[in-house]
Amino acid sequence: MLTRRIFLTTTLAATSAAALPAWAASFEITRTPAEWKKLLTPAQFAVLRLEATEKPFSNSLKGESSPLLKEARKGTYDCAGCALPAYSSDTKYDSGTGWPSFYDAIPDAVRTKEDNTLFSKRTEVHCRRCGGHFGHIFSDGPKPTGKRHCLNGLALTFTPA
Ligand SMILES: [Zn+2]
Repeated sequence: MLTRRIFLTTTLAATSAAALPAWAASFEITRTPAEWKKLLTPAQFAVLRLEATEKPFSNSLKGESSPLLKEARKGTYDCAGCALPAYSSDTKYDSGTGWPSFYDAIPDAVRTKEDNTLFSKRTEVHCRRCGGHFGHIFSDGPKPTGKRHCLNGLALTFTPA
């Protein structure tokens, strides 16, 4: 009986966890879409909350644009939703793709999930604290990680060091 009880408990736990996508399970900062709309610009809302992608090079969307592709100062790139420092200028590089690119995030600042849209398997990356969507991670980055964090400039704000 003991074995059976453990089995049932495990099954129930697995079922309830599956009701929510793992990445949306819990964030330190949670707001309703209406609350986010008040805090964010329309382009920030589209990227952070709806996973829209800004155009490359102009880094524009909905009449807004981000200057962060060409930003070259020392500093941090913070989540535009909750201001968590997410990326450092130390890991930024020019990938040639037209989006701000980094080979790594600040430790414990981001989380990822598998993204199977656009007919391919990609790794989506978002803010650890509020779940705001930043972009995707690809495996064609430079050393030492070999990763390319391909981000929307509109999802970030820059704080000079
Ligand atoms: Zn955030």
